[in-house]
Amino acid sequence: MAALANGRYDWEYADHISAVPAESMFDFANRGSLYEQWQEVVDKTESSWRSLETYNYNKYHRIEEIYLWMNQISEKYKDVVTQHFLGMTYENRTMYYLKISQPSNNSKKIVWMDCGIHAREWIASAFCQWFVKEILQSYKDNSRISRLLGNLDFYVLPVLNVDGYIYTWTTDRVWRKSRSSHNNGTCFGTDLNRNFNASWCSIGASKNCQDLTFCGTGPVSEPETKAVSSFIESKKEDILCFLTIHSYGQLILTPYGYTQNKSSNYEEMIQIAQKAADALKAKHGTSYRVGSSIDILYATSGSSRDWAQDIGIPFSYTFELRDTGKHGFVLPEDQIEPTCEETMEAVLSVLDDASPFWQKPCCFLGKLEEVPILQSKKQFSESRTSGGSSKGALPIIKRGRQTEENGKIIKMVGIQGGDSTGSKNKMETPLGSARYRKFRQL
Ligand SMILES: [Zn+2]
Repeated sequence: MAALANGRYDWEYADHISAVPAESMFDFANRGSLYEQWQEVVDKTESSWRSLETYNYNKYHRIEEIYLWMNQISEKYKDVVTQHFLGMTYENRTMYYLKISQPSNNSKKIVWMDCGIHAREWIASAFCQWFVKEILQSYKDNSRISRLLGNLDFYVLPVLNVDGYIYTWTTDRVWRKSRSSHNNGTCFGTDLNRNFNASWCSIGASKNCQDLTFCGTGPVSEPETKAVSSFIESKKEDILCFLTIHSYGQLILTPYGYTQNKSSNYEEMIQIAQKAADALKAKHGTSYRVGSSIDILYATSGSSRDWAQDIGIPFSYTFELRDTGKHGFVLPEDQIEPTCEETMEAVLSVLDDASPFWQKPCCFLGKLEEVPILQSKKQFSESRTSGGSSKGALPIIKRGRQTEENGKIIKMVGIQGGDSTGSKNKMETPLGSARYRKFRQL
């Protein structure tokens, strides 16, 4: 992998071929051997996959199997899961996502999760499948998950870069980009995570189609990014979290990659991410680092995460799953389960922390900005205790979230009044903080 300035490493567009240790699964220097070994795995997998009951979440799966799995899971859990068309890829394949939604009269917020925007990051797509499985197997009995599903709909895209993913199974295990053709067929593939309309191709991306970080011929030039962008755009007012899953590096990244500037809810995003990293570590002891992409990884432009934040989605994160370079993109299958288990803890922690704030209809769809102090701590406490909400919380601050430690409220954030357009939309952090924020509509 390539060393960058200040001793950091370039996980994402690492020269993984030389970085893969000799004892790892495949000999990348010998493509014939790779193909033969891989074909064996493919043959074995095909014969073992018969029905949902025997689907093995501890294996990597070909796209055909994943699509069959999507079919079967939406059939088996048809009350809560539906399979939807998202768009077509460059090579004219269908992109599908799963929507997990419990029928309800509640107006719910949306959590978007995409996996496999980079073809070789197989553990990402394995996690999307694991996530869906976990939610569906436990939402009836697990109060934490059932509470989340009561307030949120999940939209999960297990394989974003379908053409690239197939190419990693047939031809080149460590292919990263899409498979679009450029320069009269002399080079192939756009880095889809450099192709979104967020300071497109300004930094950390290349205009040379030979490069791993080729940003495409223009912002959103690729059918895959078009499909995701237009869908997210159409739902953005309801999207609470945008989670995009990658490997490797063991990082939870916040915006931005293209600037040192921070989003106005940066501190809150970091707190939430740090808590998620702690929850993750508690599972199997795996350490993650937390920070903005430009601060702890490297500069990137045109990423989906930055774009999602820029259009007003409040909690937009990139997860870089295991490992930190030993196996890199070719994470052995015996690590799928622990990786997914710990990542599940982190994602649930993010959702726990993000969702109470916004679970009701109304409110936040913009960037946060600091405004002068509007109300003293004392006034806030009084208004809170005199309200008498039947739910026992937030009588005046009708939409809000409280952070508790050992049963004591250490922070409250909320919006006064009841709608998203009234003049009383003030978000406050009155306890223990002098920071007051105002909602700004985009
Ligand atoms: Zn990636």
